[in-house]
Amino acid sequence: MTIQENVPLAPLTTLQVGGSARYFAELRREDDVPEAAQFARTRDLPLFVLGGGSNLVVADSGWPGLVLRIAIGGITTQSTDAPGKAVLFSVGAGVNWDDFVAQAVVQNCAGVECLSGIPGSVGGTPVQNVGAYGQEVADTIESVRALDLKEERIVVLPKPACGFRYRTSVFNTTERGRYIILRVNFRLKRGGAPSLKYADLQRYFAERLAEKKTPPSLAETRDAVREIRRSKGMLIVPGDDDCRSAGSFFKNPVLSEPQFEDLAERATARGLEIPSYPALDAQRKVSAAWLVEHSGFSKGYGVGPAGISHKHALALINRGTAKASDIVGLKEEIQHGVQKAWGILLEPEPVLVGF
Ligand SMILES: Cc1cc2nc3c(=O)[nH]c(=O)nc-3n(C[C@H](O)[C@H](O)[C@H](O)COP(=O)(O)OP(=O)(O)OC[C@H]3O[C@@H](n4cnc5c(N)ncnc54)[C@H](O)[C@@H]3O)c2cc1C
Repeated sequence: MTIQENVPLAPLTTLQVGGSARYFAELRREDDVPEAAQFARTRDLPLFVLGGGSNLVVADSGWPGLVLRIAIGGITTQSTDAPGKAVLFSVGAGVNWDDFVAQAVVQNCAGVECLSGIPGSVGGTPVQNVGAYGQEVADTIESVRALDLKEERIVVLPKPACGFRYRTSVFNTTERGRYIILRVNFRLKRGGAPSLKYADLQRYFAERLAEKKTPPSLAETRDAVREIRRSKGMLIVPGDDDCRSAGSFFKNPVLSEPQFEDLAERATARGLEIPSYPALDAQRKVSAAWLVEHSGFSKGYGVGPAGISHKHALALINRGTAKASDIVGLKEEIQHGVQKAWGILLEPEPVLVGF
């Protein structure tokens, strides 16, 4: 294990802003992880675990302690060949998420096809229970193998212990900073049908679905998801400035029924209808993109180095020379505008590091 000093973090993130890590190590082997954690503990350094850097805003002042970049590879499968049987995938935390999805699809295994094209590492996905186009990783995660920094031992957390909900888990709430994820175990279904619940996908395949021709395959669904994502700047495409982002910058607010009714009434008074979806426990999830766009912030908004993507109202982008402070300034402007217009404080989705 090599510990480097003063390593710039911006190039290791998709937003490409922020300063350096005082200490930095890239870990390819599981055995290196406890040793690296020990390095931080004995020197009393704050520890930050970096995956693919696709859900982060790193402060301009950087990180004063140790950054561990988890690069543990390897995908193994355990299965029977009978159709419809579960296939267990054990995937190293450092594997690129979309490479794993591609492999699952090639092996005709259903369960993650709608999560195609999401950037970042496999180890990053349980943290905010990554989701898109009608699927989330909680649907297929069987267990998570991690170094427990509190107990100083390696543990395997079965899915119920991960506390998955909309964009949350124990990893980013009650037990934040406690676990370093080493591997994630998924249960996929060989020969399973693709999930086509989401409106964008139904529209994409409308003709085929209406004519009841052969339903789309997993591979076609993956391609469709990637194409839809590309049109929204939600696929990392070299040369596309609209994807120099951290994805959606705000979570869709989850409201109680009375809160939702209040919001819907305000919208009706303005001759508008707010898109919403049922959520758990008699709650409703409302569209953060709609709130942003109906508070005076359109796609392409902003004149400085930070702005809103031309393709997606929720993506704050670095136009090339932005600092973290520009991104945070824009975030605050939008939060303030939405709160003033609709009485709702939007919660950021990316992790703010070193602020
Ligand atoms: C263009 C674009 C589109 C996106 N689309 C989506 C989307 O559709 N749906 C969605 O849910 N997200 C989306 N995201 C956000 C992001 O891709 C996901 O949250 C992703 O899973 C983050 O993984 P990462 O490896 O990049 O994590 P990082 O950004 O490196 O880290 C994020 C958090 O996870 C922690 N972490 C990372 N790895 C580990 C580990 N091994 N052990 C412990 N903690 C760890 C970090 O400490 C940090 O708190 C998008 C981002 C971009 C840039």
